[in-house]
Amino acid sequence: MDQVESVRTPASWVVVGLDNGGTCNNATVLDATGRYLVDNLVENPSLVTEGPESAIEQLAQAFHNILELTSTPLTLVRAVGLDTPGPASAHGVISSKGATNFSMVSWHGFDIRSALEARIGLPVFYLNDANAAALYAHHQLFGAQAMTKSSVAAIVGTGLGGGVVSDGKVVSGAAGMAGELGHVQIPLHGVLEVGQPVPECNCGFTGDVESIASLTGIKKNLLPYWLTRFPDHPLAAEPLPQAAKQLRSYGEKEDPLALAVFAQQARAIGKLFTVAANFTDPDAYLLGGGVVEASPRFRQWFLNTVRESTELRAEQQAAATFALVADLDMAGARGAAVAALEAVQNV
Ligand SMILES: [Zn+2]
Repeated sequence: MDQVESVRTPASWVVVGLDNGGTCNNATVLDATGRYLVDNLVENPSLVTEGPESAIEQLAQAFHNILELTSTPLTLVRAVGLDTPGPASAHGVISSKGATNFSMVSWHGFDIRSALEARIGLPVFYLNDANAAALYAHHQLFGAQAMTKSSVAAIVGTGLGGGVVSDGKVVSGAAGMAGELGHVQIPLHGVLEVGQPVPECNCGFTGDVESIASLTGIKKNLLPYWLTRFPDHPLAAEPLPQAAKQLRSYGEKEDPLALAVFAQQARAIGKLFTVAANFTDPDAYLLGGGVVEASPRFRQWFLNTVRESTELRAEQQAAATFALVADLDMAGARGAAVAALEAVQNV
């Protein structure tokens, strides 16, 4: 029988990865041989909107559920990796101003890592969700060579998340704010049209990557401009938030307005990757988010446009890889598990 098993039992000691999101937690188990014990999403409600106490209980529940599902004894668990959306410190203290997912006052300045560690009695290692996804993508791409390679990942969603990985480890920075690629300001020549207003980001910057390459950027900056160029377009009759969400399906049908918007996004990411090329000269440039879930033809066009817009020297062109980030819905939990495994191995 060579039936594919979706759940396995551990062959060695393990770490657990917990991905905390706005509605769900997702959990996984990674054993010391580098094998994930589950192939699919294992979720429970995160209850983050009910405040820290309920949310910590739900994370503890997710932890115990995944051990039960994989028949893993608690004594085999060496550590837990936890990721949440930011902004938070490098050690898992939610911003004192709160965050989109952690708006209740009781979350402001809350140390989610220490609280979970106290609740389950095992070491907990923290990273933000975009960094977790970047770390997983890096390890997926490079496998056994991951610890000698570097990468930069841009993940296009409501905002633009990302991460920088060096020698297989996330670069987190002094304040935990490394890899905030969405807020890197980029040169706009070759990105914007003549007369196009300079895009504004919710962070207060103008002309950063997220102001262009994100759903928020489409809604706030790109679509309002491009609809003035295509006034008879069907999306002109829709409210902007809905129109922004529908744009990808138009892109897949090669609609000229949609392609103009997505080409601007790809060129903005290319400018970001050009900065990266001169900053850390990574082995890989990774691209993830909604565009990856689009039709194969569209996502290949997008990746090609990013690549053409990234100015690499001949030596870099020969050395670097451009790739799409796969398994994005599991990337957070899996990346958190990788971070925990690396932390345990380095003790
Ligand atoms: Zn910004």
